[in-house]
Amino acid sequence: MHPSPAPRHRFALLAALVVAAVTLAACDNVPAAQTTAATPPLVVPAGAHIVHPSPPTASATSCGDPTQSIAPPATLPTPGAMPSGSYMAEIQARGYLRAGVDQSTYLWGYRDPVTGALSGFDIDMLRQVSQAIFGSPDRIRYTIVPNADRVQAVESGEVDIVAETMTINCEREKDVDFSSVYFEAGQQILVPSNSSITGPQDLGGKRVCATDGSTSLNNLVVPPVAPHVTIWAVANETDCLVMLQQGQVDAISTDNAILEGLAAQDPNTKIVGPTFTQEPYGMAISKAHPDFTSFVNGVLTNERADGTWAAIYNRWLGAATAGQPTPAPPVASYRAAS
Ligand code: GLU
Repeated sequence: MHPSPAPRHRFALLAALVVAAVTLAACDNVPAAQTTAATPPLVVPAGAHIVHPSPPTASATSCGDPTQSIAPPATLPTPGAMPSGSYMAEIQARGYLRAGVDQSTYLWGYRDPVTGALSGFDIDMLRQVSQAIFGSPDRIRYTIVPNADRVQAVESGEVDIVAETMTINCEREKDVDFSSVYFEAGQQILVPSNSSITGPQDLGGKRVCATDGSTSLNNLVVPPVAPHVTIWAVANETDCLVMLQQGQVDAISTDNAILEGLAAQDPNTKIVGPTFTQEPYGMAISKAHPDFTSFVNGVLTNERADGTWAAIYNRWLGAATAGQPTPAPPVASYRAAS
């Protein structure tokens, strides 16, 4: 037989029973919905909406080869000694480069969660420009520019330059100049690991996500993509990933370069099918500053030649392309001098 508890313990036991009884009584009053396993609310990310994009316009290629840029100078000026009267001298006098970037595109323009610093391939491109102007890669003030505002940010003079996984095309080149090509991307598809979608021909009747203001949206309404895709446009790439994870879309379709980053953020996804477009990346610069575009092309020329481009490629895409050789940097092409 168990000995009965000492009086002090009896009181404690009674108090515990009272608490339990009150708790149980309280539970009785809780609406059933709060006591059963919760179904996650299927709220779409802010700003997500269904769009009906037009096909890529004929003017996307109407300017001839939009990747032809302004030739670089024979040699670059010494860092810290920009030629007077040049736009680079204006930037130098100001003390910092103003750059438009993304902050949520992993591997390209994102905040390093440990340091808080903006990091990625695009950011490194800008750091090279800062290095060439100031002799330091850190003299940059960043503005976070949504994809849909990239051209406007440059045109308005809000920033000196945009480096943001930006495809060079004639449409955009009407309003801004581009540097020579610093990366050759192409559109592909990301799906959950267990998806049966194998390529653009399987997207008919499916829900597919890409960012507002991206070429990716327009590319989804022409072959080889099957007709009748429901297209969701969102502000940021990561909004697409959230929608995929919540089962609100069946696939994300944008540049392979961006999908590599999303796949690294969620191992329960896979990239499928061929690359079905060409998305050459350039940095956008105002048409009012052709000397600066030429200068940036000089910086890129040096990066291609001295191994800096390859080091940056390996730094950001090395893990995603492990086992494959580092590709040669994109070949620059220039307009005939007028
Ligand atoms: N490269 C494409 C563009 O410039 C897609 C960019 C993106 O979705 O970030 O529109």
